[in-house]
Amino acid sequence: MKATAPFQLVIVGGGTAGWLTACILAARHPAMAITLVESPDIATIGVGEGTWPTMRETLAAIGIAESEFLTACDASFKQGSRFDGWVTGAADDSYLHPFSLPPAGDMAALLHGWAQTAPDRAFAAAMTAQAAVCAQHLAPRQRAMPDYAGALNYAYHFDAGKFAQLLARHGTTRLGITHIAATMVGTSAAENGDIAQLQLDDGRCLAADLFIDCTGLAARLIGGHCAVDWIDRSDVSFNDRALAVQVPVLPGSAIAAQTIATAHRAGWLWDIALPTRRGIGCVYSTRFMADAEAETILRAHVAAQVPGADAAALVPRQLAFATGHRARFWQGNVVAIGLSAGFIEPLEASAIVLIELSARAIAEALPASPATMAIHARRFNTLFRTRWDRIIAFLKLHYVLSRRSEPYWQAQRDPATIPERLAEDLALWREHPPSARDFPLQDEMFPAASQQFILYGMGYPLPPAPPAAPIADAAMRIAEVQGRARHIAAALPDNRSYFAALAAQAA
Ligand SMILES: Cc1cc2nc3c(=O)[nH]c(=O)nc-3n(C[C@H](O)[C@H](O)[C@H](O)COP(=O)(O)OP(=O)(O)OC[C@H]3O[C@@H](n4cnc5c(N)ncnc54)[C@H](O)[C@@H]3O)c2cc1C
Repeated sequence: MKATAPFQLVIVGGGTAGWLTACILAARHPAMAITLVESPDIATIGVGEGTWPTMRETLAAIGIAESEFLTACDASFKQGSRFDGWVTGAADDSYLHPFSLPPAGDMAALLHGWAQTAPDRAFAAAMTAQAAVCAQHLAPRQRAMPDYAGALNYAYHFDAGKFAQLLARHGTTRLGITHIAATMVGTSAAENGDIAQLQLDDGRCLAADLFIDCTGLAARLIGGHCAVDWIDRSDVSFNDRALAVQVPVLPGSAIAAQTIATAHRAGWLWDIALPTRRGIGCVYSTRFMADAEAETILRAHVAAQVPGADAAALVPRQLAFATGHRARFWQGNVVAIGLSAGFIEPLEASAIVLIELSARAIAEALPASPATMAIHARRFNTLFRTRWDRIIAFLKLHYVLSRRSEPYWQAQRDPATIPERLAEDLALWREHPPSARDFPLQDEMFPAASQQFILYGMGYPLPPAPPAAPIADAAMRIAEVQGRARHIAAALPDNRSYFAALAAQAA
C-alpha cells in the first residue's frame, strides 16, 4: 500500500454511487487526489429516483445550489411514501410514511389521545401536518426560503442519469476530481493481497492508497479481486425483479408529493412523479409471478393512473437483481459502495442514502495510514452490517403487518422468514411503542418515528396506556397538528406552481 502524501484515491464506476462518493470525499478533502474511472461501454443501472432527506445535507456539503440541482435533474420534492393496498388491498386501504416527525413527548399517550379524540383520522394525519400537505400536492418549502430549508422535512425524486451528469460536471469543474473514461480490465495484487494497481483498457495502470468499488452489480473489486462472500437475504426479502417505464405527463398535471407504492398480488408498483414524467415500476418475486403478468399489472397501472398515457406503446425495461449484500464492505484497501455492496428491493429507497452514509463514514476515516486501515475497515464493516440488517428488518415490517391473503403475502408472514430481531421488536411493541431505546444508532436510517408510521399506519394494536398518561395533553397536541396543517398549507405553493416558477426563472 502506498503511504506517500497526498493520499491517492481511485473510484471505479460513474453511476450514482461513484459520483456521489467522489463529490462527498472531494468536498471534505480538497487536497486529496481523487480519480474516477468510468467505463464508456458499460451503462449505469439508470434507475434509483427516490432519496432520503439526508440528500439535502449532502448537496449542501458538496456545494450545489438547490435550484441548480432541481433544474438540472428534473427533480421534484419527496415528503415520504404512501402505501396503497398493503393492509387488505381494499380501495380505501392507504397509509402514509411521512418524513416529518410526530409531536414530541410520550408516544403511548399520543396513541391513546389519538384513539380517544380522532379515531377516524389516519395515524400520519393525526401526528403531522405533512399528511395534509401531501394530500394537496403542496411543496414543502416556499421559493424564498434559504436553500435546503423547508416548512417540513423533505427529500427529492430525480432523474438518475441527469443526477450523475450534474455530479460529474460539478465534481470535475469545481471539486478537482480527475475523470478517466476507460474500462478497468484487471488488477494486480500487492504481497498482502491488497490491490496494487488497476489495469485499464487504454493501457494505463492506476495505483492508489484506497480503491472504491462503485462498479454496480458487477462488483469488480470487492467480488472480483477481493472475492468477498455474498450473503443471500432472499429468505427474508422475496422480490428479485422489476419492470420499469418512464411515462411523459400532460403539462400542468399535479405532481405527487410522495412516492406511491401500490401493492399487488405478488409485490408492488412504485410511482414517482417528476415535473416532466412519471417513473413507474412493477416489483415482484419471480417465485410467485411470471414476467408477463407483471407487465400486464404495470400497463394497467399506467392506463389507470397517468392521464393521457399510451400504456400499450410502452416498452418496459427489465431489471433482475439478487437480494443480499457482501459479508464485508471494506476489505484491505478496497471499499464497496452502491450496488457492489449489495441490494435489497427499492421499497423505502434505502440504497442512495446508504451510499451517502458510506461516503461520509469514509470521509471521516481518511486519510488512513497503512497502520490504521484495518481498524477503520473493521469498524466500518460492523456499522454497515448493522445498517443492512436494520434495512432488511424495516422493509420486512411492511409485509408482516399485511392481512392480504394471496400466497405471496401469506409466505411473507411465515415466522421462518422474519428476522429474529424484528420478531422481538414486534413482541416488545405490544407493550410499548417503538422508541429511541430500540434504535440507538447515530444516523439511524429508520428511527422510531418511521417504525411508528408503519406500525400504526397498518393498524398494529396500541400498547396499553401508561398509568399516568397525560391523555388530555396528548389530545391537545394532536389538535395543534391540525391547526398547524391548515396554517402551513395556506402558505405553501403547490408543486406544479413551484416548478413552473423555477423553470421560468431558469429560462
Ligand atoms: C429497480 C430498482 C429501483 C431502484 N430504486 C431506487 C430508489 O428509488 N432509491 C434508491 O435509493 N435506490 C434505488 N435503487 C438503487 C439505485 O439504483 C442504486 O443504488 C444507485 O443507482 C447506485 O448504482 P451504482 O452506482 O452502484 O451502479 P451503476 O449505476 O450500475 O453504475 C456502475 C458504474 O460502474 C461502471 N463500471 C462497471 N464496470 C466497470 C469497469 N470494469 N470499468 C470501469 N467502470 C465500470 C459503469 O460504467 C457504471 O458507470 C433501485 C435499484 C433498482 C434495481
